[in-house]
Amino acid sequence: MFYNQTKDTVLKELKSSRHTGLTNKEARLRLEKQGPNEIQKDPPTPIWKIFIHSFKEPLVIILLLAILLSVISGVYDLSSNGDLKHAMSSFYEAIAILILILINSGLSVWQTVSARKSLDSLKKMNDHQVSVFRDGDWEKISANLLVPGDIIGVKMGDFIEADVRWFKVSELQVLESHLTGESDPINKTIEALSEDTDLGDRTNMGYSGSTVTNGNGYAVVVATGMDTELGKIAGLLNDTPDSKTPIEKTVNELTRKLMYVAGGVVLFTLVTGSLKIWLTTGTFSFTSFTAILSTAIALAVAAIPDALPAVLSIVLTIGATVLTKSKGLIKSLNSVETLGSTTFIASDKTGTLTKNEMTVTRFFANGVDFEVEGRGYDPLGDITLKTEVDSARQFIIASILNNEANVSKNPNGKYVPFGNPTDVALVVLGLKAGLERQDLLNRKAEVDYDILKVFPFDSTRKMMSVVIKSGTEFKILAKGAPDVLLNKSATGTDRDLFEEKITEFAQDALRTLAVGERVITEEQALNAPMEELEQNIMLLGLAGIIDPPREEVRQSVEKLHNADINVVMITGDHAKTAAAIATKLGIISNDGAQVMEGKQIDKLTDDELFNKVEDIRVYARVSPEHKQRIVNQLQRHGEVVAMTGDGVNDAPALRAADIGVAMGINGTDVTKDSADLILLDDKFTTIEHSVEAGRTIFTNIKNFMRHELTTNVAEVLSLMLGLLFITHDIGNVSSNTPTLTALMVLWVNMISDALPSFALGYDVPESDIMSEPPRDTHKSILADGMLRRIIVRGITMGAVVFVAFILAAKSGMRVEEAQTVAFLTLVFGQLWNVFDARSSKTLFHRSPFSNPKLIMAVTFSALSSILVTIAPFFNEVMGTARLNGKLYLAVIFLPAVPLFMISGIKALLLKKNRIK
Ligand code: ATP
Repeated sequence: MFYNQTKDTVLKELKSSRHTGLTNKEARLRLEKQGPNEIQKDPPTPIWKIFIHSFKEPLVIILLLAILLSVISGVYDLSSNGDLKHAMSSFYEAIAILILILINSGLSVWQTVSARKSLDSLKKMNDHQVSVFRDGDWEKISANLLVPGDIIGVKMGDFIEADVRWFKVSELQVLESHLTGESDPINKTIEALSEDTDLGDRTNMGYSGSTVTNGNGYAVVVATGMDTELGKIAGLLNDTPDSKTPIEKTVNELTRKLMYVAGGVVLFTLVTGSLKIWLTTGTFSFTSFTAILSTAIALAVAAIPDALPAVLSIVLTIGATVLTKSKGLIKSLNSVETLGSTTFIASDKTGTLTKNEMTVTRFFANGVDFEVEGRGYDPLGDITLKTEVDSARQFIIASILNNEANVSKNPNGKYVPFGNPTDVALVVLGLKAGLERQDLLNRKAEVDYDILKVFPFDSTRKMMSVVIKSGTEFKILAKGAPDVLLNKSATGTDRDLFEEKITEFAQDALRTLAVGERVITEEQALNAPMEELEQNIMLLGLAGIIDPPREEVRQSVEKLHNADINVVMITGDHAKTAAAIATKLGIISNDGAQVMEGKQIDKLTDDELFNKVEDIRVYARVSPEHKQRIVNQLQRHGEVVAMTGDGVNDAPALRAADIGVAMGINGTDVTKDSADLILLDDKFTTIEHSVEAGRTIFTNIKNFMRHELTTNVAEVLSLMLGLLFITHDIGNVSSNTPTLTALMVLWVNMISDALPSFALGYDVPESDIMSEPPRDTHKSILADGMLRRIIVRGITMGAVVFVAFILAAKSGMRVEEAQTVAFLTLVFGQLWNVFDARSSKTLFHRSPFSNPKLIMAVTFSALSSILVTIAPFFNEVMGTARLNGKLYLAVIFLPAVPLFMISGIKALLLKKNRIK
């Protein structure tokens, strides 16, 4: 029990030191002994279970039924007629269908395993890091390498990654609701507590899985992995099962519906077929019925897009991996789909739209304006009016003492910043004026400075302060947003002058910061609460900080506008600064327009905000709490909102947004955990790329669905036409012969069509994908002409296949030959159709060579489909026959004719803008 011992006893017991930490060697030994700092999860579903599970799919059930029918028909042929040839072909059919079922199950397993793999590797990229003190140095390590005895440091927004005992805290508050149910943050302390203290009251302890909501602290790790309090209740925390994405659900629903259609079609076929036999021959024999049975089986298989669900899931998984290449880390497959339908992107300014390389370029102190030269972190650059810099001394000292940042020279002589960029800018200003924080604190200045307390910066308060002892005096130093400090300023402050300066700085697109101080008593310094101390501030001056916009953002914004996606800036900065930068980036077109401040939002009811929210493009001086209201009201309008956030308080808004976006480099653990998309490079442009990738993936899915479903319509139609309209024998072909055998249909669905579909899933975006409006998520994927296209193409192709069959039969071909003609006509019809399906417009809109994978898949499908008509083995199994050379040419090229005609007509109509 570590909470009832003093911090030094705990450190001693764990054989650790707060001055050096553990040695790396000792940490390694402990890791070997203790195991990694991980919560064990349930083992993933074993592969054999996934395999078995795939047999429950509707498609497989239909296919199993088809096997049963084939076997019955084979057994009947053999036992009653002794017809070995027919019986064998039925058995072949059964075996071939079984093989296809196994292929389908294999695809299912592959899909689940690859999804699991890619999600795991995405999770790994989002590995939690901790600051740990080892061998006398601070370093960042993966949280699962922590061992008991490690010294860690945490700050606002971090997760606590193990159970720890605090030994130094500064305004540290921690949220532990996952263990205690207490929803308010707990203030942490370092003193020993009595033995009977309950878990929720052990304020000197930190527990794995908690989040730091304020301040910072240092602690020694006392338990890791399954030994932590979290580990003890870990059974409750196992991963929730992966849910299906909306489009997967739609497709599953569609497949289910089509299964009923298939069932109906089978019944209809059996009844109509029997009637047809009776009407044409006047008798009814089981032999002729078996022919109807084959038609029924073929139809059942034809009605269902067999490979669709598996191909869909695989393409989505691959999509998520592709996104990481453009530096967008996606956490669930759902987001791939949602990204493509984004209509509003609400982005933070600092760091995302701007470079976050802050430099003070001017300041106003003691009634004088100063200009500062130089950009970046090098402390080189003059301050104009150098002679008067002494008068600004108090302002600069307050700026660097009330500051936790630092710059240091690396071995290459380059200055590198540490800490909050705003603070870094002030540190650099100090160096330019010859003042350094460490010198002040190390008693190298004429006055001794000591920092007694820190009230850290927080984006709701928009300020920070420190309590110091300066010589014999006690003071509070405050710095923050000028309007906030003005409201807390002492009587006698020249408000008008400050307001004027603030506006002047802001109009220059400068980030403004006010700095002030107040003399307090020792008693106040030691005991008064923050709210009481941060009052009556005497303003010492204003700093104007430049934070240049990222160059590439303007172009991204323009691209998003073209794609009808609205871009909104949400910032804690001053309205004028925000508007000036938003104008530079093209987010708004004229200053002042479409800008709203946090305090205005406070005055609005939800309904009033609802009425305005679609027109506002810049929100300034907002707190994280406002973000959630903005998201909610936009969503009430049906908008799909992507929202960025980097601070700990942004987490609820990120969760509320359709796509919560967190920063990979500067974001806190908490925001990363709540986000759907993590920008590995913190750049706004990455959001734009991710949306484009999301749109591409969705369009590709739509394209291959269009392609697959067209095939199904064509197959069902050609079989139905045969069933209904061939009423008497034609040449060698009896009236009961199906246009295609079940195995031919299966071949088309699972092989000759599935491979090109896959390739469509990898297609490059159509050039105009970002010049179209976002997809309406309320509309079915089949809306907007998609169903019409499927039906028109499918009917045409089905009719062509039927006509080919009739012509072949009329020319006196054998049954197998006529069916092979129909089969190849269908295969090549579909292979031509692929090139039409991959364009949102027509065949002529895209170069067929832009997707090499597609060309390869089509070539493979074409060659292998011809092969199955030539190889004797397949002739036997699939009922195909070898054709003559001219006929091959005809079945390859003739099916393209109607497609080119339809595309031609459509292209003409498109020109006249008559249809989509
Ligand atoms: P964004 O929300 O786009 O990231 P932001 O960085 O301006 O913008 P906040 O970090 O919430 O938003 O800052 C709000 C305001 O608080 C700033 O405009 C500035 O005036 C003040 N501020 C920022 N950083 C500090 C700091 N380290 N110390 C004191 N005040 C600060």
